[in-house]
Amino acid sequence: MTEFEVIDRYFNLAPARHAALGIGDDGALLNASPLGRAIVCDTMVEGRHFYPGTDPASVGHKALAVNLSDLAAMGARPECFLLALTLPAIDEAWLESFSGGMRALAEQFDCELVGGDTTRGPLTITVTAVGQVESKVALRRDRAEPGDDIWVSGELGAAAVAVQLLGGGDSSAISEQLPADARQNLIDKLLRPEPRVALGLALHHFARAAIDISDGLVADLSHIASRSRVGMELNVERIPVAGALSTLAAGVGLQAALNGGDDYELAFTAAVENRLAIEKISQQLNLPLSRIGEVMAGDGVRLNDARGRPVPLERAGHDHFGDNG
Ligand code: ADP
Ligand code: MG
Repeated sequence: MTEFEVIDRYFNLAPARHAALGIGDDGALLNASPLGRAIVCDTMVEGRHFYPGTDPASVGHKALAVNLSDLAAMGARPECFLLALTLPAIDEAWLESFSGGMRALAEQFDCELVGGDTTRGPLTITVTAVGQVESKVALRRDRAEPGDDIWVSGELGAAAVAVQLLGGGDSSAISEQLPADARQNLIDKLLRPEPRVALGLALHHFARAAIDISDGLVADLSHIASRSRVGMELNVERIPVAGALSTLAAGVGLQAALNGGDDYELAFTAAVENRLAIEKISQQLNLPLSRIGEVMAGDGVRLNDARGRPVPLERAGHDHFGDNG
């Protein structure tokens, strides 16, 4: 099979709908948009972002999902994407499954593949995705203000524990503390993140700053803090640690929720007067939104217990929070 046959067979499935011209020319032609556009790019490398042998449908899903998550964090509506695929060899079963996983997610979000590149080399998937958003209402990292509430969607920590489960090392100790269906659940969270696109769109007039959680809640919130030149205080009791982690040793779940990464939830700040509106969005989307802290003048991200006493971040998981951690 040649490169061109691969493209035709697995990636060139329908005439362009959103673009004036899709796959097959030197480039795609995008339609004019009355709004502005956000454009994002994320790469996944085998052995670095996913383990060799990972189910290809999940790899296809995730390579697109992490990009849709970036669009969500900008408040953009997905429109189309490019796929740069580097393959060690042409493995038709792998390509069938990979493209199927990616296509299912693309269809779910009506985001169309309009081009890409295909080369030989170590397995690497780069997606560039375009979404529509008016720049005035786009969600950015540099808009947080002292006094804002800090919110986060969903539950945190599952993906990071799944990485440990899959990664060997001390995984058996963790594995023993989890029922089998919980283990599978965590692995699904890691491999099949759900981009929070509807939330990003709903937050246009309510959130001030936003980011998606790829590196860990604290690390990603510090990006908002530094770009907005503010500080943040989080209440450790309010961190939404994934329920599936409740059987783990004290502090392990909390540690994963704070520092684990790969959750692809949205963290955002919003003025206090928007609390009710945000709770309503949570109900409408059937997605938990937790108010976890406050933006302050200053810099950096700090963690407090319920009584406002500082908790050292690196040891947050170990000494302080009994078994709900
Ligand atoms: P060029 O030589 O001009 O770079 P290519 O041969 O790389 O063109 O690509 C031919 C067409 O196929 C282009 O429209 C390109 O966007 C598309 N394409 C290439 N690889 C992929 C891919 N992995 N997924 C989707 N479209 C692709
Ligand atoms: Mg090319």
